Amino acid sequence: MYIRLASHLNQSIMAQFHSLEQALKHYFGYDAFRPGQQQIVEQALQNRDQLVVMPTGGGKSLCFQLPALLQSGLTIVVSPLMALMQDQVEALRDNGIGATFLNSSLNSKAVRDREQKILERQIKLLYVAPERLLSERFLPFLDLIKEKIGVSAFAIDEAHCVSEWGHDFRPEYRQLRFLRQRYRDVPTIALTATATDRVRQDIIQQLALAQPSIHIASFNRPNLYYEVQPKQKQSYKQLLKLIQRTEGSGIVYCLSRRKVDEVTLKLKQDGIAALPYHAGLSDAERVENQTRFIRDDVQVMVATIAFGMGINKPDVRFVIHYDLPRTLESYYQESGRAGRDGEPALCTLLFGYGDIKTIEYLIDQKSDPKEQRIARQQLRQVLDYAEGTDCRRAIVLGYFGERIEGNCGNCDNCLYPQPLHDWTLEAMKFLSCVARCKERFGMNHIIEVLRGSKNQRILQYGHHNLSTHGIGQDKSAEEWRLLGRSLLHQGLVAQTSDGYPVLKLNALSWEVMRRQRSVYIAVPTASKPVVEDKQDIRAEDAERLFQRLRSLRKQIADKQSVPPYVVFADSSLKQMANLRPQSLEDFGKIPGVGSHKLAQYGSQFVNEIEAYCQEHNSPRLSDTLSLTLELYQQGCNVEEIAQKRQLHSSTITGHLAQLIERNQPVDLDQLVAPERQQSILQAIQAVGLNSLKSIYEHLGQSYSYDEIRLVVARWQLYYT
Ligand code: ADP
Ligand code: ZN
Repeated sequence: MYIRLASHLNQSIMAQFHSLEQALKHYFGYDAFRPGQQQIVEQALQNRDQLVVMPTGGGKSLCFQLPALLQSGLTIVVSPLMALMQDQVEALRDNGIGATFLNSSLNSKAVRDREQKILERQIKLLYVAPERLLSERFLPFLDLIKEKIGVSAFAIDEAHCVSEWGHDFRPEYRQLRFLRQRYRDVPTIALTATATDRVRQDIIQQLALAQPSIHIASFNRPNLYYEVQPKQKQSYKQLLKLIQRTEGSGIVYCLSRRKVDEVTLKLKQDGIAALPYHAGLSDAERVENQTRFIRDDVQVMVATIAFGMGINKPDVRFVIHYDLPRTLESYYQESGRAGRDGEPALCTLLFGYGDIKTIEYLIDQKSDPKEQRIARQQLRQVLDYAEGTDCRRAIVLGYFGERIEGNCGNCDNCLYPQPLHDWTLEAMKFLSCVARCKERFGMNHIIEVLRGSKNQRILQYGHHNLSTHGIGQDKSAEEWRLLGRSLLHQGLVAQTSDGYPVLKLNALSWEVMRRQRSVYIAVPTASKPVVEDKQDIRAEDAERLFQRLRSLRKQIADKQSVPPYVVFADSSLKQMANLRPQSLEDFGKIPGVGSHKLAQYGSQFVNEIEAYCQEHNSPRLSDTLSLTLELYQQGCNVEEIAQKRQLHSSTITGHLAQLIERNQPVDLDQLVAPERQQSILQAIQAVGLNSLKSIYEHLGQSYSYDEIRLVVARWQLYYT
């Protein structure tokens, strides 16, 4: 359909592909678009102006890279940081795509060479810094390009830099508006991960986007596990243990340079390859440390918040905040540097009451009372997150105005919930007290009134005469605070955010007060268990092969001086270790293997897999298992596979059980409902793994042999 719509498409390129997915696989090796990407690509091909807001790791780059390849002419990408440009250009080249950048690091000969290549149509994507784009030397060149080969689009990356309201204002970005005037017919796509509405509006205005289509993706990052751990006395030991639970790369954030240096030193002494990053180091040292981290020469970066912007490393497996973050937004952005590749990653906040004092001290140092006030409220929000008993994800997203319902299944509070108590009555008391106080006071005051205090402020406002005065003496101030916090997180009451946090009733508050809605509060009891290891538990064998492929990847990357993830993503290596492709054709089916990478690296990796299998004598999947797996991965259910293969459905279940045992990507939850798995597991614990029959009988025959077999397969993988 898009072929009909757009005449400027490069017809000879498009003719190669039946669909956008096919083009995606060809150039980038991915099988499917991430949410939003396809629509954005389609609209780009229709020459629309667009604003794209996606969280870090959402996959923004592809939104302008794929259209660039399918259109005639050159796409100009404006990017604020040299490191970012280099990174993206390297990744594109590794996919065999003509891309280059122009910035101040190049001498004039290099610039001329690159300009020549552009005019010879060898380049589809040109990355430039904004100040160069508008320079006297560059504009005439751009005119020439426009005339000779055409400009298909301007892509403005990190577009929030155009706004003073953003956290990273760059005045040069303001000039970009001028491009719009000079090249009226060239569409602009602006991209950002900024979370606030104010900045988004500013981008549209400043860049003079013409009736842009606006895409705002969810800010939820389902692959990130959020947890808060109380800081122990021996906090360094606690940190060390957290780092040791994974082998992947990670970032540890500390508040001060001194602490960064101290922690780095200790980690090194304990055998962890770590490097520091803070504003006290020279530029050269910072670049060097960052590069060594990105290239996997070291595992851990210990850093102040100076580190992060423009770090594109997709395979960061954990981010630990050793000190409290300043704001919840900065926590979201900093922890969000984990898991950009969509693979599981851990975000841990170590929370100590002592740290509050440090931050309060820093706030007291500020001279402007308004800044102080705002900083205090921001601290309060961070504490609400740290002390909250509701879903952590809901708390963070709620802060950005996004609501999620129910149990996210991937944070400490959801996985290890505190028992829920029905506090509807208490909530009614609390909310009516907010109403009686005319929605003009903050939480502390409301609690004082409920608890019957007669302090000066209460007397001054006559609040000791309110009907709600003293009706909450049966609960401690801390309990009321827990309730108030939870009401906020559940969206059952609102709060102003101008530095004077005043509680306001909303529609849901009234539902509670009219008894149309019950309120449940998670009340902390004893300490909750601490997750030891949330990493994929992969069969040892697959893990060994994975590590071997990782070192092959590192060798290849070092030879080309690129970061390892440019060669292949972790997720691709994992799939290789699981599926063990034996031919180049099968290798090409692995997600992340596009045509160029297949040609470039295919045989090296296939040989390595082959060698590994021979040395370890590890059986590959038999043909019949492979076939079942293939159909399963295409989305067929057991019955459909059975029908297609003309086999009995219990045979197929048997295959799936064997596949699960070998840790192939078969999702047990799709086959057996989690509650049923639970009961089967309990039966296994009671009677052991030896006989299916005794498990079957123990369960009172209300479970089928097929279900039991599948669960046993999983159990065996984990525990034998
Ligand atoms: P952003 O700029 O939004 O932070 P990137 O464009 O750097 O994100 O993409 C993040 C990661 O996701 C990269 O490793 C990229 O290769 C990967 N990615 C992007 N689109 C897809 C897709 N459709 N399928 C699989 N991986 C993708
Ligand atoms: Zn949760």
